[in-house]
Amino acid sequence: MARLTIYLLGGLSLGLCAATLAADKPSSTAGKSKPEQPALERFQWRDDEEQSFTVSGRVIIEAQDGGLLVLGQDGRLWPVEKPQLVSREAMNEPFRALSATALGKQLQAELGAGFDVVITKHYVICSSADRQYVQWCGALFERLYLSFYNFWKQRGVKLSEPEFPLVAIIFPKQKAFAEFATKDAGPDAATALSYYSIDSNRMVLYDLTAADTGLPGQKVDINQRLAAVPYNVATVIHEATHQIAFNSGMHVRKADNPLWLVEGMAMYFETPDLSSKNGWKTAGAVNDERLGQFRDFLGRSRKPDSLETLIVSDARFNDADQMPDAYGEAWVLTQYLIRTKKDAYVKYLNTLATKPPLVFDTPEERLAEFRAAFGEDLKQLDADLLKQVKRLK
Ligand SMILES: [Zn+2]
Repeated sequence: MARLTIYLLGGLSLGLCAATLAADKPSSTAGKSKPEQPALERFQWRDDEEQSFTVSGRVIIEAQDGGLLVLGQDGRLWPVEKPQLVSREAMNEPFRALSATALGKQLQAELGAGFDVVITKHYVICSSADRQYVQWCGALFERLYLSFYNFWKQRGVKLSEPEFPLVAIIFPKQKAFAEFATKDAGPDAATALSYYSIDSNRMVLYDLTAADTGLPGQKVDINQRLAAVPYNVATVIHEATHQIAFNSGMHVRKADNPLWLVEGMAMYFETPDLSSKNGWKTAGAVNDERLGQFRDFLGRSRKPDSLETLIVSDARFNDADQMPDAYGEAWVLTQYLIRTKKDAYVKYLNTLATKPPLVFDTPEERLAEFRAAFGEDLKQLDADLLKQVKRLK
C-alpha cells in the first residue's frame, strides 16, 4: 500500500504544532482515483496486530499493489494493505456520509458514558467537558466556518461544502485528552494542546480554561476563564482552520500539501481578538506570537536560503529544535503572500487543491511549483518579505 502517513496538526504554544510521523512501510506509488458517484462497499480486514475491522465506505485510491485507501461513511480514512484484506463486497447502494445524528451516536458509542453530543449547523461535538465551554466552542467553530468561506470565496478560491459533519471531541482535562491522544494518534499528539487528525478527520481538544481556579466547586464565568488563558482561542481556531481547510476542498487529505502552507493557513486565522465577544474576529490580523518567533529567528540563526528550505520539504517542521522557527517563518511568508501577491497565492491554492492523495512531490518539484506561482527570484522575494516584516506591528 502507498505510504501511510499520519499528520498531526496540534496545539499552539511550546512550538508543539505539527508532527509528521515517520512514513510507515513505503511501497508502491498511488494508483488512480475512483470516478464520480461512488458505490458503497463493505471491507473487512485484519491489521498487523490481528485486530479485525469491518468498514462500509468507498475506495479513494487503489494502488498498483492492491492496497486500498478506504473512506468510511464517518469521514475516516483507512489504509488497507492487500495481504490484510479479508473481503470486499458491493452493497448495491451509493456511498452516503453519515448524518450528524448518526455520527453523534457513533461517537457516543465509541467514547462511552459521560459524553454528550452537541450538534450545530456544521459540527458534531462529542464531549464530557463543561457544557458552557462546549457551547462556546461550537459558536466559535461556526463563526470561523462562515468567516473562512467568506474570506476565501471573495478572493476566488474554489471551495465546496464539507461532505461530512465536522467532528470535535472535547475532553474536560489534559489527562483524559493525553490518554485518548496516545491511542488515537501517538505520543506526540498527547503532548500537544490539541490536534486535527487527517486520518480520522476529527479535532481533539480539551478545556484549556479548566485549570484550577483555586476555588473548588465555584462556578467561574466562561469569559473570565477565557481571559485567563489567552492562547485558548488561538489553539481552538488553529485546529478548526485545519479541519475546515481539509474539508472545504482547499487541501486534499493525504495529498502532498506543503506544511508551510497548511500551517501558515491555520496561523493566518488563529490570531485572537480579545476585544471581540468570543475572543476572535477575523483572518489576517498580525500574529504577535508568530511575528515574535520569526524576529527571534532572524536575530539568531536564519540562513540566506531559509525560504528555500522551508518550501522544498517539511523537514524543519518535523524537527523539534527547528519547529518554532519554521512556524514563525511560515506565518510571515503566508501573510506576506496573501497581502502582496494575493492572486498568485489563490492560484497556487487552487493548484494544490487538485493534487491526488498519496502522491509525493520531490523537493525540486515543490520548488518549481512555488517559483511558477510567485516568481523565479527567491532572493528578491526574501528581501521584499524582510522589508515588509520590519514594518509589521
Ligand atoms: Zn497546525
